[in-house]
Amino acid sequence: MMGNETTAFCSGHANSCAMVARLHELKQRPDRVVFCETGLEFDEVYDYLDKFERCLGIEIIREDASKERQELKFENWFNKPWCSGKHSGEIHGMPQQCGACWHHRNVKHKIYVKYNKISSQVYVGFTRDEIGRRMKKPNGKPSDFFVYPLIDWGWSADSSIWYLKNKLGLTHPLYESDIGFKRLGCSICPYQSGEALEIIYLKFPKIWEYMLSLEEKSPNNYFYQKSLRGMTFWSLDEMSNYLDRENTKQMKLETY
Ligand code: SF4
Repeated sequence: MMGNETTAFCSGHANSCAMVARLHELKQRPDRVVFCETGLEFDEVYDYLDKFERCLGIEIIREDASKERQELKFENWFNKPWCSGKHSGEIHGMPQQCGACWHHRNVKHKIYVKYNKISSQVYVGFTRDEIGRRMKKPNGKPSDFFVYPLIDWGWSADSSIWYLKNKLGLTHPLYESDIGFKRLGCSICPYQSGEALEIIYLKFPKIWEYMLSLEEKSPNNYFYQKSLRGMTFWSLDEMSNYLDRENTKQMKLETY
């Protein structure tokens, strides 16, 4: 049953936050803003959402699919046997193929479906570089139900980060140069880039250790074909190049 109210999904990452804030500024704010709890966000994301909500006066509905169904919590199904399907009885480890992530399916997708059913329109924070991800109607034309303001405004991920920082004074710490993510997902996402993994290794050692412990419990590698332990991006050469880059940045900051 379609409702009369519009919904924006806000992940607490730069793009969707910038989308919601700019819509608010343009007085085109959706009727509700929904955050899908994954339980695996960086602490900084939760802090940022609180600050964002407080500073802009926007209420964010925090939806957690695992509240009603505890079995959907990551810790409650990871390293446990599959209940059904062709993998029935096998231990559930890190996923071995790309596509819809199991975690996404368990915790986010259910909330998307719930709000899609009761909304007249849904706002999604894809940037101009993600134009190919837009939902289409069966005839191949863009869906009218999903709206992509960042794409309409021609914004990139950098535009979002810049806007939050320079226009709103709401700097998102995870994208700042001392951390430096370009994209964010769940902290332990097995689909993140080598660059993001390098940041986790260097700046979030507890998360790194946790990821290693997850690999230990997985029947296969952490990634499709690669082991987390086997990654070599922190070879001494690379580490030293990385530190040189960081030191040069720091010198520049101190000079200007
Ligand atoms: S960010 Fe990664 S782990 Fe999290 S839901 Fe998406 S694909 Fe899955």
